[in-house]
Amino acid sequence: MNIFIQIAKSVGRILGIRKSSKSRVSVEKEYEFPSHICASKIIITGPSYGDKTYFASFIVDADKLISWAFDHSKGVWSSSKNEQKAREILPVWMAIKSEDKESYISILDGPMRQVLAPYIYDFYLKGWVSYYCHLCHSQHQKLTENDHDHQSQGAHSSWIVEWICPNGHIIHRKQHDLMWIKKRVRSTG
Ligand SMILES: [Zn+2]
Repeated sequence: MNIFIQIAKSVGRILGIRKSSKSRVSVEKEYEFPSHICASKIIITGPSYGDKTYFASFIVDADKLISWAFDHSKGVWSSSKNEQKAREILPVWMAIKSEDKESYISILDGPMRQVLAPYIYDFYLKGWVSYYCHLCHSQHQKLTENDHDHQSQGAHSSWIVEWICPNGHIIHRKQHDLMWIKKRVRSTG
């Protein structure tokens, strides 16, 4: 089935969800369809969001992402109501046609960013990402990974992941922690 036909079918379903959930009383502000058009390029992480771990602006082509977003909305579910709604609305929002798509770069709202940001490295591996390094004021597509400071103590391991631009600037830095939990085997006797 054509992706746009599938997406059009989802619109009705999502609007149905919106209608029925209006009567619910909730402290969390209900997620609303973005009021701005999705541009052909979307910033997923970077200083424009106040990111503490991404120092470059990572940009994805919406055209390349749309099929992924549609499949993702069918295959992944979140217990966060707003994140889940954003996940379902994302491909619909991306499919809206507009002549202005090329004239700006889209910024995501919080729930849509929760959906996409964890996959930035996957998108990079697929070749869908370019990034703007704010230190060399250049656009790049390739980055170098530098994992270091590997430490292990008992059940706890940690290490630091860095991504470096071709001019040597750190564009992403994050400490990763891993806790090993040994499952106790229960005696059945
Ligand atoms: Zn740089």
